[in-house]
Amino acid sequence: MNTMAAPAAETQTATRPCPVCGHEKTRFFVEKNNYTFLKCPECELNFIHPVPAHEELAPLYNQQGAPKDALRYPYNKVDHRRKRARVRAGRFKKYFEGKDAVDIGCGGGYMVDAMQKAGAKRAFGIDLDPEAMEFARKNHDPKATYYCETLDAFIKRGLTFDFGHSSQVIEHVGDFNAFVAGWAQLVKSGGYFFLKTPDRRHWLHGEKPETWPNPPEYTQYFSRKNIRILLEKHGFEVVKIYFNLKPSMEILARRK
Ligand SMILES: [Zn+2]
Repeated sequence: MNTMAAPAAETQTATRPCPVCGHEKTRFFVEKNNYTFLKCPECELNFIHPVPAHEELAPLYNQQGAPKDALRYPYNKVDHRRKRARVRAGRFKKYFEGKDAVDIGCGGGYMVDAMQKAGAKRAFGIDLDPEAMEFARKNHDPKATYYCETLDAFIKRGLTFDFGHSSQVIEHVGDFNAFVAGWAQLVKSGGYFFLKTPDRRHWLHGEKPETWPNPPEYTQYFSRKNIRILLEKHGFEVVKIYFNLKPSMEILARRK
């Protein structure tokens, strides 16, 4: 029994099936910032209910609309961010060297730039924040391409990729099934995808909703168990979930 907040009468009954595994009997989990989170007893997913409208979420994704401390893209510590991206690009170079790579929700474009410089044939980044895209275009390798548009709009360009990357984005989107289905459309069969997202059931930190950032910036929290189910549902196989002391998951998946 969760002791965080007593569920209001109406939230006890208003649930929906688990958007990862389809389990019907999801339960009230916690109320934060006047939003309700449900929990799936089968796959452990914690998810917002109801899903906020796109109009409510969209302003959170750019500098103009986001409240302070929400998803505003930080432009400080440029050298540190550049170096961190270079290290990550080095880890996955074998999957994109001489090939095409994309970063979905690329923020200031550091990973796109790092992949381009590490030998990607063409590196692309998409993000909904026009300021982040402007920053990326001004400050990084001009060979890379940045689009300020939705995943749907980007898919319509008809490009496909050998390597995809998305770090700390999926926990913020409304329809995450459509989001992962979009990745599957972009990544070629046999190609790879790297994903990073918080692990709210991390073995060292436990499931402590009182420490979680507030919705609606965060709309769901995954675990190792349900992220695997989600990826497999959309045509990926999990190659590796990396050991991590921090409460986040880094996952490498392969498109079937
Ligand atoms: Zn479930």
